[in-house]
Amino acid sequence: MPSEFDLIRRHFTRPARHTALSVGDDAALLAPRAGMQLAVSTDMLVAGTHFFPDAEPEALGWKTLAVNISDLAAMGAEPRWAVLALSLPVADEAWIAAFARGFFACADAFGVDLAGGDTTRGPLNLCVTIFGEVPAGTAITRGGARTGDDLWITGTPGHAALGLAHLRGEIALPPAAAQSCLAALHRPQPRAAFGQALRGVASAMLDVSDGLLGDLGHILESSGCGARIDVAALPLAALHACGADEALARRCLLSGGDDYELLFTAPPSQREHLAVLALGHGLSLSRIGTITATAGELVLHEADGREHTTAHAGYDHFA
Ligand code: ADP
Ligand code: MG
Repeated sequence: MPSEFDLIRRHFTRPARHTALSVGDDAALLAPRAGMQLAVSTDMLVAGTHFFPDAEPEALGWKTLAVNISDLAAMGAEPRWAVLALSLPVADEAWIAAFARGFFACADAFGVDLAGGDTTRGPLNLCVTIFGEVPAGTAITRGGARTGDDLWITGTPGHAALGLAHLRGEIALPPAAAQSCLAALHRPQPRAAFGQALRGVASAMLDVSDGLLGDLGHILESSGCGARIDVAALPLAALHACGADEALARRCLLSGGDDYELLFTAPPSQREHLAVLALGHGLSLSRIGTITATAGELVLHEADGREHTTAHAGYDHFA
């Protein structure tokens, strides 16, 4: 049976790129660069709540870090360091090795050093705290949306929820669609570079983890405004192309979680600049609505011109 220290040395100790003191001492030493603020976020993934207990460990390793990087992306911050707290029922070395492979693949892809952590026996639970840097005063919060701002979303949200619907047997996706939707669910691609490029451009931003409408509600609440969504502008076509009918595509896009796309607001004067930025990042971008003055009101403007207000409840673990 490997000891806790063998496991840490074998699977979680890698040469540090930019960490003054990394795994192995009582604390890590991080040195933020001059003029930077630290952006810090924690996300916990719990077996049975956030993933199936028999989930493939390599993908789980990727996702555990990716969802944290996404939180920093949503602030316009650059991910730099992470610490990993692991609770494992058994010391299954093959599982841990695969998990670490996925975790470090994501760490390498986004320039993150694993600086420390904790490893303990217990119910399967994966918790990452991530530290990033953002030039002081430039972080993009949820509270800056203003009446008249455009509402934007990156990529094609809804694929992760469609993948989950497929896993649950609610729909049988054709093989190619199943593959891309399951990739969206298991290996989300945080929009780290694009989030940083939005500093000075976006007025408010968050990453969509619990569904577009629910997460939009957080921006509306923090910014004290409302929004009108133009249904015809929603990127539903990509979901239809996967085989989802209108109702399912809409549910996945508006209420599905786990996409980790960026939802942000920006003044209309930024439209041209945003188009150029998106092109430069190889990212599709949809302008899906407008920020309105009525605090907390969310209106859906249908393609036929009808309008109705809607609740913006997202996923609530305690509801
Ligand atoms: P302590 O008893 O002082 O808390 P630990 O024995 O928990 O120290 O950890 C030893 C070292 O290994 C520490 O530097 C800690 O940050 C690191 N560490 C423990 N678990 C992990 C992990 N899963 N990933 C990365 N580093 C880890
Ligand atoms: Mg410890």
